[in-house]
Amino acid sequence: MIIVMKPNAKAESIQQVKSIIEEKGLYAHISDGHQVTIIGVVGDKAMLMDQNLEIYEDVDKIVPVTESYKLANKKFHPEPTRVQVGNVTIGGDTTVIMSGPCAVESRQQLLATAHAIKKAGAQILRGGAYKPRTSPYAFQGLEEEGLSYMKEAREETGLPVICEVTSLGAIESAVKYVDMLQIGARNMQNFYLLKEAGKTGVPVLLKRGLSATIDEWLNAAEYIIAEGNPNVVLCERGIRTFETATRNTLDISAVSVIKSKSHLPIIVDPSHATGVRAYVKSLSMAAVAAGADGLMIETHPDPSNALSDGPQSLTFEQFEDLTNELVPLVKLMGKRL
Ligand code: PEP
Ligand code: MN
Repeated sequence: MIIVMKPNAKAESIQQVKSIIEEKGLYAHISDGHQVTIIGVVGDKAMLMDQNLEIYEDVDKIVPVTESYKLANKKFHPEPTRVQVGNVTIGGDTTVIMSGPCAVESRQQLLATAHAIKKAGAQILRGGAYKPRTSPYAFQGLEEEGLSYMKEAREETGLPVICEVTSLGAIESAVKYVDMLQIGARNMQNFYLLKEAGKTGVPVLLKRGLSATIDEWLNAAEYIIAEGNPNVVLCERGIRTFETATRNTLDISAVSVIKSKSHLPIIVDPSHATGVRAYVKSLSMAAVAAGADGLMIETHPDPSNALSDGPQSLTFEQFEDLTNELVPLVKLMGKRL
C-alpha cells in the first residue's frame, strides 16, 4: 500500500507515519514530490491490519498496491528516476546512446570503436568481456583483459563504459573497471546475480528476459533495488515469438507499458531485437518516437569478421548516419542527443 500525505504535510506528520510502519517491522519508502509526499510500505501489510493510518494528521488517503513489485512501481515513486552513469544522466532530457561491439575482441578493435562512436555522438561505450553464447564452442570473451581495455577506452575518450556480468566473479572484477553493469536477457531471473549486482550500488542495465513478461521483468528490477541500489535502467531487447524473420520481436509497446507502471528509465536495443543490421535504423527511430530514454546499438570496425553478432552490427559509417538522422527526431520529442 501507499500512504498519500496531504499537500505540504508537516515533517513531524510524515515521521509519525514512518515510525508506525517501522514499529511493525516494515520498511517505509518515502518519495518526496514537489508538493505531495508518498510513503510506500514494503513488507507484509497484514502487520498493519490493526492500524487505521487514515486518522493520522496530514494523511490524505491510503491506496492499495496490487503489483508484487513495490520499489520499482510508479505508485511508490511518481517522479521519473534519473540514473547517473559517470557524467551521463539516463532518464533526463537527453536521449542516451550506448554503442560498441558485441564482444571486446582486441585493444585495437575497442579503441577504434570507442573513438568512432564518440565522434558520431554516442555517450556510453558498450563491450562484452563475458559472453553468454548459445554454443559452448563460440568465443566466450576476453574476461578481465577485456575489462582492462574498456577502462583504457574510457580514459582515452572520457566515455563511461558498460559491460555484461554473468557471475559473481565477473561482478567482482567488473566493478573495478566499468561505470555500469549489464545483466543480460539470459540472466534476468538469475536472482542471486541480481542481488549481488544490487549490493554493489553500481548502476545496472537490466535487459528483458527472452520470454519474460513485463511483470517478471519489473520484479527482477525489484531484486536489485531491494538490495539498496536504485540505479536501475531497463532495456527492451526483443522477445521470443512465433516470428522467425527477425532474431526476436521488438516489443515497442514495452516502452509505453513501462512508462505507465514504473519510474525507471527504459532504453531499447534494436540490434539484438532484430539480429539484422538493415532493420536497426528504423527501429531506433520507432523507439525514440515511443519515448525511450535511450538506445543500445552494436557497432564494429569490420562486422563481417566480428567474433559475435556481426550480422546485426553497424559499421562506423552506418552508425554515424543513424545518429545524424536521429537528431531532428530527438528534438521533436523535446529532448537532445
Ligand atoms: C549483449 O548485449 O551483448 C547481449 C548478449 O544481449 P542480450 O542479453 O540482450 O541477448
Ligand atoms: Mn551481441
